[in-house]
Amino acid sequence: MYQTIVYEELENSIARISLNRPESRNAQDTTLLYELNDAFDRAVKSDDIAVIILAALGPHFSSGHDLREPDLMGKLGEFRTVGTWAQFSAGGAEGWMAREQELYRGFSERWRNISKPTIAAVQGKCIAGGLMLVWPCDLIVAADDAQFLDNTVAMGMCGVEWFAHPWELGPRKAKELLFTAEGISAVEAHRLGMVNHVVDVAELQTFTLDLARKIASKPRFALKLTKESVNAAQDAMGRVSAMQTAFALHQLGHSHNMQVHGLPIDPSGAGKIVQAKKPE
Ligand code: ZN
Repeated sequence: MYQTIVYEELENSIARISLNRPESRNAQDTTLLYELNDAFDRAVKSDDIAVIILAALGPHFSSGHDLREPDLMGKLGEFRTVGTWAQFSAGGAEGWMAREQELYRGFSERWRNISKPTIAAVQGKCIAGGLMLVWPCDLIVAADDAQFLDNTVAMGMCGVEWFAHPWELGPRKAKELLFTAEGISAVEAHRLGMVNHVVDVAELQTFTLDLARKIASKPRFALKLTKESVNAAQDAMGRVSAMQTAFALHQLGHSHNMQVHGLPIDPSGAGKIVQAKKPE
């Protein structure tokens, strides 16, 4: 039933959702994001499922947002939106901000608050928007070939829309990742506490499944309450308001680039990957 993901129920208690656009390095187009959201909802609403794994098919986890998607702005009309923002076709900053609120910040925040434990299994490159799929997960298992990077500063932007960098890496490493646009290896990410385990790429799925099994055997309400408790601690430290500020600055960056370059990002640092449509 899905075009861009694969949904599996394993051993009656574990759902595995796999990104399935390996030909485009699992770039996230609008369809993929809505299908992913639908699959998360399906796993959450299934009484059988205790733990959700987010994986990806092919050599790379995700190259980020699919900026080559045709009719970027018009595409949203094909889907039943889940956020409370609207006016996606409005001109200027209004439509663009609404779209990013719905698709990027909104979805990542929604997935972070899923009421069941989630585990990301990451191999290969995980770039920019790719981070917005793995960071909302509760645990991250990285293959030894995994590499995490955010190259948005090179595109005249200030990080991805769900700005979790300082929480995931600490402020100093977050700045270095963003300023240099250089990747962090799986081993470095593990040292920084961003990933839970680093395993041989050939063992990524079996290791993650074993970890999911351990968690799935625990009382489910206790898991839910524990997740809420840890998330509440992070939120008490100001996560939500810090992310709101970063999102507003992110929109300022897009508006600036629209004024100066006629595109939402600075094309000088983006090479050939940018063909984003100019909002009307
Ligand atoms: Zn953006």
